[in-house]
Amino acid sequence: MPLAQTAIFCADIGGSFIDFALIGPDGHIGMRQKCRTPTRDLDAFTKILMTLTDHQPHIPLHIALPGLRDPQKGICTTANIPCVNGIDLAKILGERLNRNVKIGNDADCFTLAETLHGAARGHRNVLGIILGTGVGGGLVLGGELVIGAGGLTGEWGHAPFIPSIPGTEDKIPCFPCGCGQRGCIDTIGGARGLERLHAWSCKETADSRTILTAWHAGDEKACQTLAIYLHYLSSALALAVNITGATILPAGGGLANDEKMLAALDAAVREKILRPTENPLIVASQLGNAAGLIGAAAL
Ligand SMILES: [Zn+2]
Repeated sequence: MPLAQTAIFCADIGGSFIDFALIGPDGHIGMRQKCRTPTRDLDAFTKILMTLTDHQPHIPLHIALPGLRDPQKGICTTANIPCVNGIDLAKILGERLNRNVKIGNDADCFTLAETLHGAARGHRNVLGIILGTGVGGGLVLGGELVIGAGGLTGEWGHAPFIPSIPGTEDKIPCFPCGCGQRGCIDTIGGARGLERLHAWSCKETADSRTILTAWHAGDEKACQTLAIYLHYLSSALALAVNITGATILPAGGGLANDEKMLAALDAAVREKILRPTENPLIVASQLGNAAGLIGAAAL
């Protein structure tokens, strides 16, 4: 399936770097380059995109943003890039760059890309999951990306999933979340969450890579942390699979590079869902760090 009728400039914007490329209708990635993200200066942010695109005035620009874009109001919400938080970035960039600009959530772009050209090809219902610094997600239903009210669809990592029972706070890892609630999967699900969980569970400070390496080696403390981690993540994902009918969950982000962890998570989810299946549900991303760019082209 072609991504678009024409080539599209795509920018996958992260809190540290902008990954930029020209994506052809066949998914070919050209002119790829990386530059630092100006996070606090909208003029500098705009200028970089202007410089990257100004030799080709008629090509649209599609952006994968680490945050939300309200589909009704156009307002973007992103914690990592304060200079574009609370504004209609597509409108502002469209006027300044004098071209069509579309913006999508980066997890949505990831899910779309993996559905069209990656690990979820051939599936109609896909829940893309990001296990990065934090967790994120996007949902394709019937082959179409679901944006939903507020642009929040697919965010399986938020809601007070880990129970907060009065008087038992020290027995359950019920941490405060950036969304304002307590006990969200996001508080333990990404790399920072795994580290927080390990510090809570084993009174030991270690980075996520060290924890996973120790788990691979059968370290008792790391096994204790991973048991809690896999229990909560698989429970939330099993619920998400039952609700959405997703038949595959392509996984991206740094933690998803750990094959053993993904396989353990997949096995745990398949034990908990209602529909028995022999096929893996959680699979590693096939497009890797190009998924954001390819998905942005398809917006
Ligand atoms: Zn939350």
